[in-house]
Amino acid sequence: MDCKTIHDVDVRNRRVLVRVDFNVPIADGCVVDDTRIRAAAPTLRGLLARSAAVILCSHLGRPNGACVPALSLRPVAAILEDIMGRGVQFVEDCLGDAAHASAERLLPGEMLLLENTRFHAGENRDDAEMARELAELADVFVNDAFGVVHRKHASTVGVAQHLPAVAGLLLEKELEYLGRVLNRPRRPFVAILGGAKIPEKIGVIESLLERADRVLIGGGMANTFFGAQGIEVAESLVTDAAFETARALLEQAGDKLVLPTEVVIADSFCADAELKSIPVTEGVPSGWRILDIGDATVERFATHVSTARMILWNGPMGVFELPPFAAGTNAVAQLIAKSDATSIVGGGDSVAAVRQSGLAGEITHISTGGGASLEFLQGKVLPGVAALDPVH
Ligand code: AMP
Repeated sequence: MDCKTIHDVDVRNRRVLVRVDFNVPIADGCVVDDTRIRAAAPTLRGLLARSAAVILCSHLGRPNGACVPALSLRPVAAILEDIMGRGVQFVEDCLGDAAHASAERLLPGEMLLLENTRFHAGENRDDAEMARELAELADVFVNDAFGVVHRKHASTVGVAQHLPAVAGLLLEKELEYLGRVLNRPRRPFVAILGGAKIPEKIGVIESLLERADRVLIGGGMANTFFGAQGIEVAESLVTDAAFETARALLEQAGDKLVLPTEVVIADSFCADAELKSIPVTEGVPSGWRILDIGDATVERFATHVSTARMILWNGPMGVFELPPFAAGTNAVAQLIAKSDATSIVGGGDSVAAVRQSGLAGEITHISTGGGASLEFLQGKVLPGVAALDPVH
């Protein structure tokens, strides 16, 4: 951890602006999943216990600079009150006179939630004026929004230039665990990657091949490696443009890269499709598509997972949203939960699979930021982290 954290600053009787990730699902004005709000609580409790006046800001959804009532953070204030067991004031704009007046009036031990930062167009373009106005509300800036540290926005980067700027506990924990994966993995270190977006994840595969002892590939991503080897994939999701890179990776990685040997194929992309398991080498018949990994693949993956001392998992093994194709993803979640290794699970879908299977308690660290963790694992600089005060 080479940036300062809340342990390194004096917050007593000071106004502290905390950038949180309250980008929670909301339906009909109700918060559907409060995981992200709960995740911010330790930092908030720590600051309040040290007599800080806490001002919270976050984005919610993509209002594109307009004030969209359905994307108001107001419903979050009520949930936060329940979680924290104390009052949370709310102000209808994160900038302007009302925000200023509310921030000025805020006493040590009190909390104020500002309205959605993305209601202002300046947020996403890291507008200097917006950053300055936000900074004027407080004496210290804390970033605890790991999910957006890969974004150069006014509330993640610009504001940090005007105030003492440090990491919150959640961000500190994320950087600690992902930093361990990147720099000090326990070995054998097994990485499991799945999901659909090969262009987004090819850099992660490259980076992990340098660091991990095995990289297991499942999900739609594996299809591109099959196609690159000349295996017929028929209607399966595939990125032809990545064939050459995939071939190079296969050659360079040797047996470090572990691909599915058996897959579940379906005659259409729906829950009542006809399905069967086939060995990958057989090729997919015309009109069919690969939608999950098969049992033999799970067994193959299990031999690597069972001996691992560190496991990183990002991305589902199949179209797990459709129950007939969720078996591979659920099996991998079980394998990881059973293992004694340090386990880190990231990415919305893998985290959802772990939670749905009731296995979250068996995982060492559940990462809150999909995009941010992928960028971090490629060794990229995260602007929101680089903007914080360095430890000298
Ligand atoms: P990503 O955002 O790249 O992690 O991709 C997640 C998505 O990949 C999920 O919505 C899955 O349904 C999808 N996915 C996983 N395996 C496959 C597959 N074999 N074919 C098509 N989509 C898949």
